[in-house]
Amino acid sequence: MTMPHDADARRAVAPVICYPVETLPAPDMTLYGRARETLTKVDEVTVAPRDASCFTVPAGHFFRITSVEGPQVGDLNLWAQNDLSQRFYSGKTRALHGTHITTGQRMWSSFPTLRPMATLTHDTLDWYGVDDFGGSVHDVIGTRCDPYTNQLLSGGQYHHCCHSNLIRALADHQGISYAEAEPYVHDVLNVFMCTGFTRDTGQYFMKASPVRPGDYLEFFAEIDLLGALSACPGGDCSSKHSADTAACYPLLVEVFAPASGTLNGWQSPQPNGYDRSHGS
Ligand SMILES: [Zn+2]
Repeated sequence: MTMPHDADARRAVAPVICYPVETLPAPDMTLYGRARETLTKVDEVTVAPRDASCFTVPAGHFFRITSVEGPQVGDLNLWAQNDLSQRFYSGKTRALHGTHITTGQRMWSSFPTLRPMATLTHDTLDWYGVDDFGGSVHDVIGTRCDPYTNQLLSGGQYHHCCHSNLIRALADHQGISYAEAEPYVHDVLNVFMCTGFTRDTGQYFMKASPVRPGDYLEFFAEIDLLGALSACPGGDCSSKHSADTAACYPLLVEVFAPASGTLNGWQSPQPNGYDRSHGS
């Protein structure tokens, strides 16, 4: 198309933030900071490479995802423990906080509850920032590697994509079939994954994760949570996913209880206050 005469002027219009977060209920990071100094480990789960495991976290507890043997990316799903229809909403979390999340930001639940499910309380990779390619860590822009997209692009039947790993883990944990579990698996938080969009074509890219053994991402459970974490077949996601070629390592999930009394003043967030009448 021919450019209009005022193309430059139209491009020069300054952007506005879609969702200013100044009015978003802020987590009390000072309270969480005091509580996390008193933690006692109550549970742990090791997620095998190219597989997934479920774990539960009571409201008011913390959980950590740690790189233990080598650089490894994890795909995280969260549900309300007593209601699988209440799940992590990657798209709205992205709209509120941006493409990647870190300490002080939150994982929000799907409609109609739209409330904080978990608050990020510690991130040993927060130093990474945004690199020269526009890449950053812990994204809410990817979906999860899955066998359907792999079939479209490469053909064949690969069974250890994060989507399938999460289905197997959820089905086993809930005692339901894979077909019953599949609709509950949703877009993930890509823990430790380094991603962005190319500046020229706007395509989703990944690059070798900067995570090293000992690095961890820590969360505070705002509600009773069921989590599922997949150790992505892409390993550090430096080259390929949806295949068994990348070096893959386990991930450690640990659950911690704070000392009693340290959360005085904290309340589990209520479901969203919209009345759901939708104009009727
Ligand atoms: Zn994956």
